[in-house]
Amino acid sequence: MAAYQLAQQALAADFAARWAEVLAAVEAREIAGSLTELEAEYTAAIRESAAASRVLSIAFYRLVRALETGRVIGGPDYRPGASLGSLWADFNKATGKRTGTGPHEQLAVDTRNPFPVEDLAHEALRAEEAFRHQVADRVAQHESEHAGQGSAELNDPELIAWEKEFLDSLKTGSTGAGGMLVQDGGRDAIHTALQDDPGAIGYFRKTDASPCYFCALMAGRGAIYKSKRTAAFGAHPHCHCQPIPIFSRRYQLPIENGRFSRMWRDFGGGSLADWRTYYSDKAPG
Ligand SMILES: [Zn+2]
Repeated sequence: MAAYQLAQQALAADFAARWAEVLAAVEAREIAGSLTELEAEYTAAIRESAAASRVLSIAFYRLVRALETGRVIGGPDYRPGASLGSLWADFNKATGKRTGTGPHEQLAVDTRNPFPVEDLAHEALRAEEAFRHQVADRVAQHESEHAGQGSAELNDPELIAWEKEFLDSLKTGSTGAGGMLVQDGGRDAIHTALQDDPGAIGYFRKTDASPCYFCALMAGRGAIYKSKRTAAFGAHPHCHCQPIPIFSRRYQLPIENGRFSRMWRDFGGGSLADWRTYYSDKAPG
């Protein structure tokens, strides 16, 4: 489970590294004239990593389900004759690490496919939107500030600092939004599959090593059992949380989730803003 969360986080990091390289290759004053190329690079990088995130999450879902129920589920990449051994092999391949193995006895099969169909058009739209908000609109805004300021008012060091601040915030914003879309490739596949899989009973939130106050609160709530209307998973930019599906009451929560839940109890109640302050005082880092 930790291997899964870390592998998803690594996919977001791959995307971030690739995007950072693209940005580093463009001079600040060339950005406005390179938006078309930048958008193509941005959306392609998101697409590729989101596709990998989805493959990883499906391999993970199928493995966890088989471990907990002894049955293999159909859908993308399903191969007849699957065993715990072959499901571990698929998962290891998707993470790039060898984290487990299993026996090769053939498992019972549920032929149902609970995984959502990849909606490439919708994904492309979300990536374009992210680019527009995080890059194109900001560049336009920045350009208009430039025009309004008149270069004479800023001396060189000031101007350089201002440009650097702009580029840093552009990079942070676009990387966070892109990384969220990358991981949503996997998160959406799992969160949707749960709803459509009679074998699944719910999920819990596995956070990264230092989640924000909101995610810590959500993780501290423990398992979210499925209902007719299970709320959206609720990720945000720079969030590396994953929904971990559960198929039996014998699941084990990560120790951090227990820690967050004790923190919440000790906090004793109050507004979200109060919790935020309390959490940031107590949380490591
Ligand atoms: Zn989170």
